[in-house]
Amino acid sequence: MTQTWKIYGIRYTVQPSRPAHMTFMFGDPNEETGGLDYYSWVLVSNDRAIVVDTGAAEHKVRKLGRTWLQAPTTALKTLGVDPANVEDVILSHAHWDHVGDLKAYPKAKFYMNDLEMESITGPDMSYHVLREPYHGDEAAEIVGLCYEDRLTFLQGDGTFAPGVDYTLIGGHSAGQLALTVATDRGPVVLATDAIHFWQEVEQERAFLIFHDLRQMLAGYRKMNAMVGGDICRLLPGHDPLVKERYPVVERHADGSPFILDLSAAPTSW
Ligand SMILES: [Zn+2]
Repeated sequence: MTQTWKIYGIRYTVQPSRPAHMTFMFGDPNEETGGLDYYSWVLVSNDRAIVVDTGAAEHKVRKLGRTWLQAPTTALKTLGVDPANVEDVILSHAHWDHVGDLKAYPKAKFYMNDLEMESITGPDMSYHVLREPYHGDEAAEIVGLCYEDRLTFLQGDGTFAPGVDYTLIGGHSAGQLALTVATDRGPVVLATDAIHFWQEVEQERAFLIFHDLRQMLAGYRKMNAMVGGDICRLLPGHDPLVKERYPVVERHADGSPFILDLSAAPTSW
């Protein structure tokens, strides 16, 4: 029997509103998208926890004008996972809102696609529009992990753990990964930022930040095919609808969702 996992989405930051022309290519400035939610994720099975993206550093969230809610590490503790003892952290890509606070995981080995590393340490970063979603201090920190033998490169597609497979999608970033996770409701694709909003897949709407537009669009189709068109088994990285559709495990003080069970069936759609 396949080992199954819980997938917890940790909603740690929000950008309450964002017009469509700042979110999608050819977006209407008069269309409000509902903003962006920012997530870190953790996969839990038996006594093993795999963190997927660490979220952003708090001071960067504040500096960039987003609304900080609570640290992803606080959510991990609520779930009984001590960040100090986490052994595996997968970085789906290295944009600033996914690789902050790496020092909170002192025992962890980190995993990232090799093309992402080439991109953040090579000529790609001489183009300011490609560099914009990355931060040099974080790229340097990731290089440092490599020098400490704490960074393993995931090349192409493969199996990370029983019931956890990774797929190179690219597009949004050079080495953007998606994970296919075995859950009690069947395989679920954690797209992270290979899809920001479900409408990218439903309407082939192109997100405004990308490394390779054609590859990003092909990735939408590929992931849709990976779930057989059943998009409730496809989990986007920033869609404010996620918190409306999945069961809430823990709330912030203001009552808004903090931890969601994304391995459970959606409660509304
Ligand atoms: Zn992101």
